[in-house]
Amino acid sequence: MGHKDIIKITDRYLTEKEAGDVAVFAPLATLSLIRNYKVEKKMKAKLPDVVKDILVCPNPCCITRVEPVETLFFVEEFKQKIFLRCDFCEKFFERSEIREYKT
Ligand SMILES: [Zn+2]
Repeated sequence: MGHKDIIKITDRYLTEKEAGDVAVFAPLATLSLIRNYKVEKKMKAKLPDVVKDILVCPNPCCITRVEPVETLFFVEEFKQKIFLRCDFCEKFFERSEIREYKT
């Protein structure tokens, strides 16, 4: 509500995949590319189709909680909400239900 969080990443540029990962965390984020103190490019974070190996599946029975496998979620937007479907247990989760991340 009316506040803005800023994440600043210095010394490097995000790849398109990384920019997509940002969109999963902050769907309304605007990415500004700053070079020599000037905004060179602004872009809306674009949701990726899949999120690989970042999120932990909230389903306690999911195989990914037991086996050391890469997690994979399909991203789907419905009524301006973001849902993620686990490729392994095939359950849908609202973005806010996923609170654990792989480190
Ligand atoms: Zn799962």
